[in-house]
Amino acid sequence: MSAVTIEKPTLREGAFGHATGLVCRECGHRVELGPHYACIECFGPLEVAYDFPAVTRAQIEAGPSNIWRYKALLPVPSDIESSPNMEPGFTRLLEARNLAAELGLDKLWVKDDSTNPTNSFKDRVVACALSAAVELKAKVFACPSTGNLANAVAAAGARAGLKTVVFIPSNLETPKQVNSAVFTDSLVAVEGNYDDVNKLASEIAGEEEGWAFVNVNVRPFYAEGSKTLGYEIAEQLGWRLPDQVVIPVASGSQLTKVHKAFRELVDLGLVEDKPVKIYGAQAAGCSPVSTAYKGGVDAIRPVKPDTIAKSLAIGNPADGIYVLDICRETGGAVEDVTDAEVRAGIVSLARTEGIFTETAGGTTVAVLRKLVETGQLDTSLETVVINTGHGLKTLDAVAGSVRPAATIAPSYAAFAATGIA
Ligand SMILES: *Cc1c(COP(=O)(O)O)cnc(C)c1O
Ligand SMILES: [Zn+2]
Repeated sequence: MSAVTIEKPTLREGAFGHATGLVCRECGHRVELGPHYACIECFGPLEVAYDFPAVTRAQIEAGPSNIWRYKALLPVPSDIESSPNMEPGFTRLLEARNLAAELGLDKLWVKDDSTNPTNSFKDRVVACALSAAVELKAKVFACPSTGNLANAVAAAGARAGLKTVVFIPSNLETPKQVNSAVFTDSLVAVEGNYDDVNKLASEIAGEEEGWAFVNVNVRPFYAEGSKTLGYEIAEQLGWRLPDQVVIPVASGSQLTKVHKAFRELVDLGLVEDKPVKIYGAQAAGCSPVSTAYKGGVDAIRPVKPDTIAKSLAIGNPADGIYVLDICRETGGAVEDVTDAEVRAGIVSLARTEGIFTETAGGTTVAVLRKLVETGQLDTSLETVVINTGHGLKTLDAVAGSVRPAATIAPSYAAFAATGIA
């Protein structure tokens, strides 16, 4: 299981920064830093462990306007800025007064990750995976993807001068296919859903030497990149934590890492401790975590996805059980919405805040609305909703619901007849 597919390279000093090893989330078994992702004792997921140095707000603020301002808290070398990468992160945290008013919330912010280099939050995780792949001297940079990850891997690999091979379900939206194919000549469309593509990737990782699959054999390093979303939210709020955050759930990795980031900031003395409710958002057509949450059970039953929110369409989410734990422990919830609600969520964010989100963001905004309407979310508390991707990648989702209000002859009389003025 712990496929060591990359031949043990000689690691340079500080290759993974202040990381000290990989520790099993389930049983605590510890292994050395390398291309390992599953515990040899219990098959549990491995996570990066650190011995953090003392870090101050001033040191972070003096860093670059991208995720490397937090490099001391990531498994990357101290000279990370000098190797070619996409420099993602430090995206806008916008106060959303109009959307707040529409939903009946007192204070709301949108963390807008659609402005990352390849227009989704995946640039963050891929930047950390790329660093690991480079330090491990991988020959090929690869991933199975629901779309955005393929875009981010293909672009980052091109910039780093690495061979990239990316695998996607063949029914993926055309814009997401083009957004990968433009960066790599090795986009592979697989006849199957994401879970089939993922299984194939694990098989290839076991057969081929020297491949770094960002979300398979270097997943522990990859996943740490999502922590930067949590760090940024706290820093941009003026070094304090919000009361509640709504986060989309595919594999569940992002949600668990935003939660971890908040805890780390408290432990490092960078923000004051306070309770933060964490909410997970899924589409009804792929809602294994929400279903388990509502059923009051601990086990996730895998599903066959059928939703327009393709970037969230993981039927067997690796971190689903940890999402359940976190949402329950913090007093949050996991909720799901229909495809019609997803479309309405996209239009609602666009019309209130001028932000064009993809189906994942439509899901998250629609879930926020549903949480308010069902009384599961306290409207008097400060809320952050995460927009993880750009609407131009899923144009088809709303192309049928938004269109010109009128098509007219170029005359004032024709315009006046429309009643728009
Ligand atoms: C991948 C992805 C997510 C969720 O990621 P997980 O960490 O797997 O839960 C959310 N939104 C978008 C747009 C994504 O591409
Ligand atoms: Zn274990």
